[in-house]
Amino acid sequence: MYKILQKYFGYTSFYPLQEEIIKEVQRQRDTFVLMPTGGGKSLCYQLPAILFDSLTVVISPLIALMKDQVDGLLANGVPATFINSSLSYKEINVRRRSLSKNEIKILYIAPERLVMPEFLQFLQGLKVSLFAIDESHCISEWGHDFRPEYRQLKLLKDRFPGAPIMALTATATPVVQEDIITQLKLSDCKVFKASFNRGNLYYQIKLKDEPYHQILQYLEGRKNDSGIIYCQSRKTVESLAASLQTAGYRALPYHAGLSAEVRTESQEQFIHENVEIMVATIAFGMGIDKPNVRYVIHYDLPKSIEGYSQETGRAGRDGLKSDCILFFSYADRVKIEYFIEQKKDENERQVAYKQLRELVNYCESNVCRRKLLLDYFGERFDEPNCGSCDVCLEPKERFDGTIATQKILSCVYRIGERFGINYVIDVLQGSKKNKKVLQNRHDMVRTYGVGKEYSKSQWQSFIRELIQLGYLRQEGDKYPVLKLNKKSWEVLLRTERVFLAKAEEPHYIPPSETGEVYNRALFELLRSLRKTLADQEAVPPYVIFHDTSLKEMSTYYPRNLQDFRRINGVGERKSDKYGDVFLKEIIGYCKQYNIAPKQAIHKRRELPKKQMKSSTVQETLALHKQRLTINEIAQKRGLALSTIVSHLEKLILDGEDVSLDNIVDREKQERIRRSLKELGVKVLSPVKEKLGNDYSYGEIRLVRAKMMCEAK
Ligand code: ADP
Ligand code: ZN
Repeated sequence: MYKILQKYFGYTSFYPLQEEIIKEVQRQRDTFVLMPTGGGKSLCYQLPAILFDSLTVVISPLIALMKDQVDGLLANGVPATFINSSLSYKEINVRRRSLSKNEIKILYIAPERLVMPEFLQFLQGLKVSLFAIDESHCISEWGHDFRPEYRQLKLLKDRFPGAPIMALTATATPVVQEDIITQLKLSDCKVFKASFNRGNLYYQIKLKDEPYHQILQYLEGRKNDSGIIYCQSRKTVESLAASLQTAGYRALPYHAGLSAEVRTESQEQFIHENVEIMVATIAFGMGIDKPNVRYVIHYDLPKSIEGYSQETGRAGRDGLKSDCILFFSYADRVKIEYFIEQKKDENERQVAYKQLRELVNYCESNVCRRKLLLDYFGERFDEPNCGSCDVCLEPKERFDGTIATQKILSCVYRIGERFGINYVIDVLQGSKKNKKVLQNRHDMVRTYGVGKEYSKSQWQSFIRELIQLGYLRQEGDKYPVLKLNKKSWEVLLRTERVFLAKAEEPHYIPPSETGEVYNRALFELLRSLRKTLADQEAVPPYVIFHDTSLKEMSTYYPRNLQDFRRINGVGERKSDKYGDVFLKEIIGYCKQYNIAPKQAIHKRRELPKKQMKSSTVQETLALHKQRLTINEIAQKRGLALSTIVSHLEKLILDGEDVSLDNIVDREKQERIRRSLKELGVKVLSPVKEKLGNDYSYGEIRLVRAKMMCEAK
């Protein structure tokens, strides 16, 4: 297995579960593989296919993808082919003949063609070692992408009782999973579920005020990176694409209103890297296998959490750091509510409201984005700091918000738990403008006008957080009203203190910078070399090498074929075919700039995934190791102090070698420890209060992290 992994794919280790899955397949067992996008599903059937002595049939609904996948396999020296409606009758016959001669290891085919009686008969005449059913959720009516032609795949088990079936999907709902297994009649099937955490994705919500300029700012310095910008309407798609073109970006529009030819053409342009940016409605994306999509931007609010995670999932399949940015505004929310109102069907309306509420909660939350997403799909995520979302990297400071909370709760109580957020705030602020307040005589309640110390948006933020923390609940979909619960009373009766995020006016969070260690200039040279070769061979650039490989080349500067072979993603075939041209480019570059090869190349194999993932954190670590103070690091990197603290906190929690003594005075550490032990580690405000102004939150957090690590 390892030999084949290295020889054909150029990898030295498996992704989680791949090895276990492949072993089960070799035992002829049916398997069900649930992995997120980018989890490495294809290898699970491609590798055993090479090991088996007869044919592996891969069933996929995405005809457009088959050619690229086959090209990818051929480039690695694996005999593969596809049969679909894009081929002439004559060409199909040629391919059938080589199948009959057992010259092919892997055949890609669409379900409707596979189940044609004549074709089934033909296949039965060959020996099939394995059926791999990609996108297998298409068989289930419960899923989001039901395709009737998948239903017929039921007959595989009866017609080919000897061949194991592997069903693969990235759809996480349990009902669908159950349905797939039943429909395909998988027997004694072994189920594999990978974590859906996409560690290389950075999640960020931005308040949408001037989105076009915000996008331009983001794109600055990313001219060569591929990305998708999702918009809600065709009109926005057209106008944004046009504006970006005018601004000098290679961008194309994509939506269902364009003809099929135009859409296919645009998709090709994107995959072949003739354009970098797709501005699209959600019509775009299914079947986009492009591994190096570096960012997915939601210009408008997505439809649901599920949609959002599918769309963002298209970023960073290759495991390299990529950004998922969502622009959120209340105006958008109101617009969507308006659309929901237009829906005739009451049921549909309810569902849409629920989806909107979940999404808005996600955007407004002060809880780690990753945690919320994983929670949504039923996976637990307990790390205190994920290190790769805006909430974790720019945590808001908290304060003792007990009084503010009491004001809110008692106001809700006094006006009879019958009003929504904004009404409550109007009462708190003693609004004279809201006529309803006066009509209802709520200017007479005790809490009228007691909340002038905070702005409206601050009160909104407090209330939203209280809802999330479970001190208040919202009832009703269209005009949700605030209600109290058991937890509310614990605060009202003064037994519990509440800590809230300080609600400042929103500040700009810098986009995640690429603190990766590779040589950007060389990377660009290699990228353009790759593009030239790809165009010559009429394949997408990623078929030649993935970005991961180019980045490693620009990190380790291999000088000979032996070193070249050590680069991740360089197998035998590719090293033979491309080694010389790439080495020439690299060596030339190194000569010109006097760069010595890195000795560490033999270590490349151990390059931990983590290091690749959050290189910005690694950069902080590197500077810390050079004995720079936190302040100096912050200054040097142009990042907020709190960001550097979060980095160090994460590093400590990851067990990295951070010497706290250089950051926090020994004596101070001791006092912080004592206070944490006394007052608990969960909420830091009481600790901070006790210690006084000589101690910063940052210092307390770092000591806490160290303590947690020791306790592990
Ligand atoms: P999925 O189909 O689950 O979305 P893919 O099969 O496309 O995922 O794999 C995602 C990426 O990970 C691809 O770029 C692939 O080449 C790479 N990959 C898969 N397995 C490995 C491995 N064991 N080592 C390194 N890279 C891998
Ligand atoms: Zn997080």
